[in-house]
Amino acid sequence: MTTKLLIATHNPGKAREYQALLADLPLQITWLVAEGITFEAPEQGATFAENARAKARAYAQISGLLTWADDSGLEVDALGGWPGVASARHAGPDASDWDRLQILLQRLSGLPYERRAAVFRCAVAVATPTADLFLAEGSSAGVIAEQPQGEGGFGYDPIFYVPKFGRTFAQLTPTEKHSISHRGRAARRARVLLQRYLHEEGPGR
Ligand code: IMP
Repeated sequence: MTTKLLIATHNPGKAREYQALLADLPLQITWLVAEGITFEAPEQGATFAENARAKARAYAQISGLLTWADDSGLEVDALGGWPGVASARHAGPDASDWDRLQILLQRLSGLPYERRAAVFRCAVAVATPTADLFLAEGSSAGVIAEQPQGEGGFGYDPIFYVPKFGRTFAQLTPTEKHSISHRGRAARRARVLLQRYLHEEGPGR
């Protein structure tokens, strides 16, 4: 019997990325919406890891399923790591991705290229209804562009410039983004641990 894995995110951009990253595993992937879960787990931790663990635990208990959850965000060096764990909500509950990105650009206005360094971070946690299984983290360094560029991705992608590619995350193909992104790196680490779990201790053993 194939194990069902709940990807616990309400963010369609992330859901698409995880689906691609986990596509080759022997899992039946399901989503919050498909399970009829509307609950929004609060993100009150001081770190991405704390929030990811709390979300995985909460959604595993609600769904009764093996659950994959994450927390991620952008840390801007010149702003002392802001917005960090507040990346999704620093502009209030009704703000859009575009509003948040514009506020960030305003705060960096006039700063030269060499002072616009930033890091995306992601923590992925996997839990069952009765246990926290593991946590994996990944990061990706870049530079905050002066203007949004590109149509792909989501969130801060149009202003996250990757010198190695000479393009923003929003100008990369999904495969290029996954190869270097914080989420790709965390997910590949988590996938190894998940495979080990399914192989050694998975349900039914
Ligand atoms: P959360 O992990 O759902 O709490 O989202 C954190 C915030 O960081 C949201 O505003 C996302 O849009 C943003 N974010 C996280 N990962 C990415 C990414 O890969 N690209 C662009 N924005 C991201």
